[in-house]
Parts: sequence; structure tokens; C-alpha cells
Amino acid sequence: MSAVRIEEVVGDFISLKKRGVNLLGICPFHNEKTPSFNVSPVRGIYKCFGCGKGGNAVNFIMEHEHYSYPEALRYLARRYNIDIQEEERSPEFDQEQMERESLLAVTEYASKFFIKQLHETDEGRSVGLSYFSERGFTDEMIERFQLGYSPEEWRAFTDDALAAGYKLEKLEKTGMTVVNGERMFDRFRGRVMFPIHNVAGKVIGFGGRILKSDAKAAKYLNSPESDIYHKSKVLYGLYQSRKAIVEKDVCYLVEGYTDVISMHQSGITNVVASSGTALTQDQIRLIRRYTKNITILYDGDTAGIKASLRGIDLILEEGMNVRVVLFPDGDDPDSFSRKHTTTEIFAYIKENAKDFIRFKTSLLLKDVGNDPIGRAGLIREIVETIALIPDAIIRSTYVRECSNLMQIGEDVLMSELTRIVRKKVFKDGANEPQTQAQTQVPTDDVPLEKLIIDERDPELLNRSEHQEADIVRLLLNFADELVTFPAQYEEDGRTHTVNVQEQVKSVIVHDLEPDDIAFENPTYGAIYQMFRSQVHENRPHAEGDFTNHPDAEISRLAAHFLTIRYPLANWEDRGIFVKDESKKLAHSVFSALYSFKIKHVERLSHSNREAIKTASEQGEDVEPLLDKQMSLDRLRASLSAYLSIVVLR
Ligand code: ATP
Ligand code: MN
Repeated sequence: MSAVRIEEVVGDFISLKKRGVNLLGICPFHNEKTPSFNVSPVRGIYKCFGCGKGGNAVNFIMEHEHYSYPEALRYLARRYNIDIQEEERSPEFDQEQMERESLLAVTEYASKFFIKQLHETDEGRSVGLSYFSERGFTDEMIERFQLGYSPEEWRAFTDDALAAGYKLEKLEKTGMTVVNGERMFDRFRGRVMFPIHNVAGKVIGFGGRILKSDAKAAKYLNSPESDIYHKSKVLYGLYQSRKAIVEKDVCYLVEGYTDVISMHQSGITNVVASSGTALTQDQIRLIRRYTKNITILYDGDTAGIKASLRGIDLILEEGMNVRVVLFPDGDDPDSFSRKHTTTEIFAYIKENAKDFIRFKTSLLLKDVGNDPIGRAGLIREIVETIALIPDAIIRSTYVRECSNLMQIGEDVLMSELTRIVRKKVFKDGANEPQTQAQTQVPTDDVPLEKLIIDERDPELLNRSEHQEADIVRLLLNFADELVTFPAQYEEDGRTHTVNVQEQVKSVIVHDLEPDDIAFENPTYGAIYQMFRSQVHENRPHAEGDFTNHPDAEISRLAAHFLTIRYPLANWEDRGIFVKDESKKLAHSVFSALYSFKIKHVERLSHSNREAIKTASEQGEDVEPLLDKQMSLDRLRASLSAYLSIVVLR
């Protein structure tokens, strides 16, 4: 890391101009005309103030080149002519790695076997190949997707693989062979085979389509879950489509194997499928590495619509943009693209792509008509979806659109939205909002969203983790700085007040340690632990330990917090904080600490209240629980009192 110069690494890809001590350029991670991509040679980090991406040189290469961590390190080592001594790994790691490799060897072998069967046997050609050509798949697509054929026999593959020296245990673990006591047989028999690749292009599983019309057998059969195949984390076609997804900056999402292949054949190559499962969060995050835009292309039947609605919510929650295109009832992307030219398909997608508000409205408005109750229900449903979007600015754009479309005031929608967001944030208990209002900052005339969700980089802030983020931000920015604050001690039965001077990090660590409250967010927790050892070992703070941390999450967050100052709320605007936070550091530190503790007490208090409810329903003794409730309430009140003194002083 000490050899690496961030400005050189970034400069290999984008042109940078000097701006003070930093460098500035056009961000490669989002579309922009005016440069907001900052590189700090001194700190060795980059940060885009437009899209929020940031980190060190390793993070940059991972993000820009879609490399894994070790790949990025190897890249940098080559860039700076450094020999990497790859360390010996732990035996457990080697064991797992070897196990995975041996399973991958089986699926790789199977894929080759099926391809050979398809092209080099009579059965493969007359049954498999002729099916593909009937479907209109060209040789090029058969080759690109490495399609194959498994013969209509009980043990064609199993016998072949055993003879080639593969172990039965591995054949079973990949799901290629089904073992039942003494008997064993091929899972896939008499099917055309669609190999499923991971992003590195390795075959990890298969889908097989049956060819004869057999009412008993499922049309599609898939590999079972295994150590190498986790179906909720895989997207069919991503390996073949990832380049086009980056270039087009949009990913089309379809239902299955044949949709992906037919679209590719039509020249539309930015397509993936969540084959055989409902779309998952992991799959969406996989796409997010390549683009922030997803367009769902589904069949216009009821099942397709239902699946789209579920997909929309999940995609929005990940902070991504989603559009939906439904094909005419009875057509899926596969059949539609076979019937139309590429130009027609593009035109259809362009004309029919709806954002989620238009999609939901057009879907539901038919049933609702002018019935006011029905309309209100529809509006609420739309607003609930808007509330899932983590970015407040994007949320308000959709509020405007919904307002226009539904002929209803923006302010009405905004207050409904605020209500929902607030409920989500304070889902710990019924009376939290009031408490927060009394203790933290008056909320009445500040838009609530501004207070609870930071607009600048929402991705990094998971709702209730706000307080933890604030503590980490203070630690990273002001660790060794001294703060002065009044402390009280008792002597001769009297209370004395003295001014104490202490480093920010030791104030925080010494204040949190006795209570041993765990951080909810594991990365914030890890950063806090690093500061804890700093304090214990009496080491000075070194920014590089964080910005160059091997854990990409930690280095990314460190870069974020070091480049963006974001106070918990816009308190400065209200004249409560002065602009330069370092002057009022003690206030910031203590209010962060108290807010964090209040949050924790509220959580305890909520679960205790639940316990009281359950106990009383079951006729158990609630007395001890009530006592506990009283002390929790008292604790919260005194923390609140401290906080308001700190904030208002
Ligand atoms: P047909 O020729 O009868 O239309 P098909 O092979 O096109 O059959 P469909 O039933 O139309 O299959 O299904 C559409 C897509 O959904 C296919 O591309 C397939 O990949 C996918 N699919 C359907 N069922 C499953 C399943 N059980 N597991 C995985 N994918 C499936
Ligand atoms: Mn079909």
C-alpha cells in the first residue's frame, strides 16, 4: 500500500485535474458532466460527491474492473512491479478450497460431457440438436451458452465420470448423480442441458429441459444446492452478459434460460435470469456491481405481474432504479423476441417501460376508478413503495410524479411518506417519536426525513445505525484530538466540578466500555474495536490503518467518513452547532454517545414491554418485569436530560 499512489492508479483510467491539494475528475461510476470525483493523494483515497462511491486504490480497482480483492492486489502489484509472496493458508481454508475445486472439476467435466453428447452422438444430434434448431437457437448461441444434451439412459454420465476417475462422493455432492442406497443414477436423463456459470465463467450447476411430453416429469429440472451452487446468489447469463450490462448501463431481467438465449440471439445481450427462483436480494446486489438500472421483462400474465411487483420492492430497497415491461399476454421475452426484429423489440421495450408508479397505477387504477376509498388505498400503496427508496432526493422526485399522476397534493403525499418512514425508523416502540422530539432536537419544523435519513450517502446508513455511524465518524475524524469537558467528583461529602481534558477516542471508549453495548452494524463494530485497542495499547491514531484496511468494507467506510462531514442532522442550520465542528467537539462527542445509549435503552425497553404483555397474557408474575421497566424508564429519562443539556448548552 505504501508503494501505491492513488492518483496514478485512478489516473490510468480517468483524467484528473489539480484542485488545491486534491485532484478532480469525471466520476467513472455514474453519469455526470461536471466533475465531482475527488482524489486525495495525501490520504490515498478517492471519493465521489455525486454518487458517494469512495475508498482506497484497492477499492477503486475492485469497483472499476469488477475484480475480487486478491485480483485487485495482483493488479496493483503488477502495476508497481512488486512480487507477491502468496502466503500459506490455513489447513481449513485449503480443505474447503480443495473441496470446492473438486466439485467444480466435476461440473466442468459434466459440461464437456453434455456438449460432446449433443454434437457427437446420434441421439444427441437427432434429439437435442434438432430440438435447439426447432427452437431457432443458432450454433453461435449453442456455443456461447455451452448447451448440451444428457442421453436418455440411467447412468450414462455417472459411469463415464467414474471411469474417468471422479469420485462418486463428489458426483453426489454436485447433484449430478443421485445415490439411493446401493443404487445410483444420473439426475439429468433425456434432457437438453443449460449449464449455469458463475461470474468467473466456471460451471457450477445445470438446468435441464425434458423433451418428450411426460406428464409426470417436471419440464425443467435444476441442480440442487451445493457447496458451489447457491441458487439465490446466482443469475443465469450474467457471465455472458456482464460486459454489455456495464456498457448499456442497464440490466434486463427475464424469467429463464430460453429468454436469455433468445434475447442474445436477437442482439440484446444485457440480459440475466433468476432461473427457477423468485428474485432475491443477493441477486440484485450482484447486478448492482455492474449497473444501478434494472428493467424487468416479464410475461403479462398474473404470475408475471405478481413477480414484477415483488421484484420492484426489492430493487428499490437496494437503492436501484427499476422499470417494468410486460409482454402481451401469452408472450414471454423468448417467444416475443423470436417473433420480432431487434428494432421492434427495442421499440417495444422503449414504449412500454414504465417506472414503478406508472406500472402500479396502470395496473390498479382500472379496478379502482373514481372510488375515493379505493384511490386512497392505491395512493397509500404507492407511497409505501416510495418509502422503500433509501435516497431522500429520489423519493421526493417520485412523490412529485405520483402527485401529478393521481391529482393529489404533494404535501399530502409527503406527510403520508413521512409517517411511513418514521414508523419504519422508530419501529422499536410506539412512543419513541415523542421522546426523540423532546430529547434530541425539536422535530416540528424540520422535515423529518432530513433528520432521520441522510441524503448524501444513504447506502451507507442503515436506519437504526445512525448513532453508530456518528460515533465512528467522530472517531475517524477526531480520534487523537483533545476535548475539554466538566466532570464531577465527590469529596468530603460535597460535589466538585473540574474541567477534564481527554482524547476523543478515549472519551468514547471509556464511556462505552463499561456498558458493553454491541454495535448493530458489524463494520462499525469492527472499526470501534480497532479504536478500542488503540486506546488500550496507547497507540496514536493512524488513518492508513483504516483507509488501507484489507477489509474492503472498512476501507470504504473510512474513506467515506473522512471525506464527508455529515452531522447527525442539520443542526448547524438551526444555529445549534457552529460550522466548525472541531470547536464544539465535546458537544458532538457526548451527544453521539447519549443518543447511542438512548437508542439502546429504548430497544431494551421495547422488548421488556413485550415481555410484560406476554407474561400477563399467560398469567405469570409481572412484578419483576414492571420493576425493570421503571428503572429503564428512569434511565432513559436521565440520559435524555443529559442529552438535552449537551445539545442546548
Ligand atoms: P415451451 O416451449 O413450452 O414454451 P419453455 O422451455 O419455453 O417451454 P416455459 O415454460 O415457457 O419453458 O418457461 C419459460 C422460462 O422459464 C424458460 O426459459 C425456463 O428457463 C424457465 N423455467 C420454467 N420452469 C423452470 C424451472 N422449474 N426451473 C428453472 N427455470 C424454469
Ligand atoms: Mn416458453
